[in-house]
Formats: sequence, structure tokens, C-alpha cells
Amino acid sequence: MPLQIYISGKYFDKDNAKISVYDHGLLYGDGVFEGMRAYSGNVFRLTEHIDRLYESALAICLKIPMSKSDMIEAVKKTLEINSLKDAYIRLVVTRGAGSLGLDPNRTSDPQIIIIADHIALYDPKFYEEGLKIITASTIRNHPAALSPRIKSLNYLNNIMAKIEGLQAGCMEAIMLNHKGEVAECTGDNIFIVKRGELLTPPKDAGILEGITRNAILELAESLHIPTKETSLTRHDLFVADECFLTGSAAEVIPVVSIDNRSIHDGCVGPVTKKLMSEFKKLVHADGKK
Ligand code: PMP
Repeated sequence: MPLQIYISGKYFDKDNAKISVYDHGLLYGDGVFEGMRAYSGNVFRLTEHIDRLYESALAICLKIPMSKSDMIEAVKKTLEINSLKDAYIRLVVTRGAGSLGLDPNRTSDPQIIIIADHIALYDPKFYEEGLKIITASTIRNHPAALSPRIKSLNYLNNIMAKIEGLQAGCMEAIMLNHKGEVAECTGDNIFIVKRGELLTPPKDAGILEGITRNAILELAESLHIPTKETSLTRHDLFVADECFLTGSAAEVIPVVSIDNRSIHDGCVGPVTKKLMSEFKKLVHADGKK
């Protein structure tokens, strides 16, 4: 059976899963989304993802025409119908089809799309050897222009930085905020380890408050690793003992070089290794609760 895609209450074969070309999600990137992972049939931190989706929608004045509990059921059903146990789930809510103008009041029915499929962002070798990344010259959106806390369908800011990374032969790129501080990567949050302490930019540094990020902060605390959400500069990255990135798709991935400078000895550090293995345990244990 072809992959079944959920669109606003109905399932369609992948090739027939279509929405209007007048949808403002397409015309203007007007909508919100989530990227989640299922492990052994359980969606990791599903409630947190749904809460973030509804908050993103609220921030752009988009009323999702479905209750949170029905949305949770729809996500689970999409996995079931596709007999998927380990999967990546993309949940998208668009503003809906409208006129060719910007006016969101002239759109009707927001569309809800749920795709459950497989994703392999990075070659397994990067989890062993670590990524080499660069700092992009494209800064993260100014929070007063479009808050990075909104996971909106408008990802051009991140795509511009991703292009810079790819042109430099890197799979990820660091984005600074409008103050020149480290914000995050194009699709992942960033952490460093310095003198045994785990540091990451605070949520008001112009970042998406990642669900994996929050899980790692909790995990570190339970392992008695001191954590601090604090502003970081490129200097802090260059003199860090370890560095890694987090995201639902990437999970926890080590970074061994930034802007062609090795981080510490250029090898994956012990705290990173510990958190990578504990995170793997957590995603499976959470589902059994
Ligand atoms: N920052 C950005 C810009 C992202 O797009 C993402 C998700 N891909 C993240 C951070 C990580 O968030 P999460 O852990 O919730 O997937």
C-alpha cells in the first residue's frame, strides 16, 4: 500500500495528497509545523510538540480547527495506518486557500497535513566522527521581525544559512542573532561543554526552543551535569571542550570543528558521548511510561 497522508480528516495515497495552489501556506509560507519522531510506535514528547504547534499558531493568529486531543489521535492514527513504528512525522497547518492578496481573513479552512515517513538526515559516520560546521553570515531572524520561537512555514532565513553551509561543504551552519551572539543552527539547537558544565543559549537568544534541547537539559540534570542557559559568542565555541547539536531529526550529533578550527582535540568528547547514549535510552523509555 502506498504511504497514506492525512489531509484535514481524510487519508490519501502519497501521489494524490495535494492541496490548493491558492493555499497561503504555499503562497506566503503562512502556516506552522512540527517535526517529530516515533520510536517503537511511540511519538517522543508528543504533548510538547502539540503544545508548541498550537503556540506557534496562536502567535500568528491562526486558529487550528481541531482540538489538541483530536490532533494527538490523528498523529497516532497516521502512524498506525502506515504500520510505522520508527518514523519521522511532519505535521503542517496552513492558513488555507484564499485570494492572491496577503489578507489572512480572506482565506478559508486551514489545512492540516500529517506525513509519517522515514528520515535519515546525517550519515551514521557523523555520529561517530562528528560534524564540521561553519558560522553563516546570514543572521537568525530578528525576534521583532519574525520570532524564531514560532515554528513557521517560512524557513527561508534558515535555508539561506543552510546554503552557505552547503557551499562550504558543511551539513549544518551556526546562525548568530542580531546581537552577534550564537543563536542556533539552521535546524538544530547548539550546546557546548566547558569545564564540565553544559551551556546552551537561552530561549530569548532568538532560537526555537527545541524539544530535544529541553530533554537534554533535563537529562543532564538527572546525570548531575551542571547546566546553564547563557549567551554564547563564537569565542566561547572556539574555546569549548565539546560541542554538539540537538533536534528531533538529528537527535544528538557531535561537532568537532567550527569555521575550520578543531574543537578541543577534534574528537567526540565524553560528555557528548554520554548524552548521546542516554538520549537513546530516554526516547525508548519515555514510550514505555
Ligand atoms: N532550531 C530550529 C531552527 C529547528 O528547525 C529545529 C527543529 N528542526 C530545532 C532547533 C530543534 O528543535 P526540536 O528539538 O524540537 O526538533
